[in-house]
Amino acid sequence: MMKCSFCRCKYWHYDENLLTASVVIVFHNEGWSTLMRTVHSVIKRTPRKYLAEIVLIDDFSNKEHLKGKLDEYIKLWNGLVKVFRNERREGLIQARSIGAQKAKLGQVLIYLDAHCEVAANWYAPLVAPISKDSNVNLSPAMAGGLFAIERDFFFELGLYDPGLQIWGGENFEISYKIWQCGGKLLFVPCSRVGHIYRLEGWQGNPPPIYVGSSPTLKNYVRVVEVWWDEYKDYFYASRPESKALAYGDISELKKFREDHNCKSFKWFMEEIAYDVTSHYPLPPRNVEWGEIRGFETAYCIDSMGRTNGGLVELGPCHRMGGNQLFRINEANQLMQYDQCLTKGPDGSKIMITHCNLNEFKEWQYFKNLHRLTHVPSGMCLDRSEILHQVFISNCDSSKTTQKWEINNIHSV
Ligand code: UDP
Ligand code: MN
Repeated sequence: MMKCSFCRCKYWHYDENLLTASVVIVFHNEGWSTLMRTVHSVIKRTPRKYLAEIVLIDDFSNKEHLKGKLDEYIKLWNGLVKVFRNERREGLIQARSIGAQKAKLGQVLIYLDAHCEVAANWYAPLVAPISKDSNVNLSPAMAGGLFAIERDFFFELGLYDPGLQIWGGENFEISYKIWQCGGKLLFVPCSRVGHIYRLEGWQGNPPPIYVGSSPTLKNYVRVVEVWWDEYKDYFYASRPESKALAYGDISELKKFREDHNCKSFKWFMEEIAYDVTSHYPLPPRNVEWGEIRGFETAYCIDSMGRTNGGLVELGPCHRMGGNQLFRINEANQLMQYDQCLTKGPDGSKIMITHCNLNEFKEWQYFKNLHRLTHVPSGMCLDRSEILHQVFISNCDSSKTTQKWEINNIHSV
């Protein structure tokens, strides 16, 4: 017998009168074949009476094939496919908001990446729930940028926060905004769209020069500051270096939230994302965070980007955070991102490894003594500045290599 994950999808009957849609595809330097596969699949697999237009937003690409050749090619569809070009690189977030303004014909806006292929019968299951109240699966937040939204509702929500830059965090912004301000976000497993993921290690198109540093992290901070209320402390507990980021003005968004009587984040966590904390319990508060520097030296503990069992080392302090950014929390975990420091396999060198809330609660920081104690062994954190090693050894208050300081650093 054949098994299929979504068998029931085959037997559903959908309304014959669905809302019409504008399909919006934003792209920056996309390959020709992937872009065309996206467009062709939409045209081929969407009932013509529902497909009002396909709107391509060229986000300041410089590849030759995306210029005249593209303009020529889309004439094939007699105006059904349109292309608009940004005059500077806007990033995918603002490019999607621009797409909403350019796409005037459809009742629904459907966003696709420029490297997708829509499957047979993708349209009805995606759009049907928008026109009537249905019981398809609720989803607390969307993972990325493939979604359908009623055009008027997207405008009511003010599109994306205009202060979000380039890439990242917009999926959360739109999800919280939808839920907290009275909408619904649904997951529709019967609508299938393929998406090409990047190879691991691909760093993304570099942001344009006019954008400052850490745009994605700033985006997260904006979203958290506007929507998370008192829960924002949990965000800062795991990304303390983002506390000092200049994330721009959010007063308009706060006003929007007030004017629309949007609900609290506590409501969202309790009513919509109610099972999240059973999988990801709220983290303990930080006691101290920053770089862990050999007291009065220029050497810091550095994970060297290692995770899951790699050894940490001593390296010249660079004050850029990243691999030298650690935190010690109220549960006595000494952490970097989702990883904890603990004693390695040789019983003395320090390794970094993934941990949950109950693991490796092993460290105490005595600020005045400049000492970090490994509680289970009763030993002290020590270092060799010559060998660049970090290890534990018997506590000896006369050893300067057992003295440490943790000082805050802020990313720029
Ligand atoms: N994109 C864009 N401007 C940018 C970055 C991305 O228009 O500055 C487009 C990109 O071509 C793609 C969509 O936005 O069609 C989503 O970006 P990407 O595929 O890089 O995101 P991912 O799928 O990796 O999350
Ligand atoms: Mn993509």
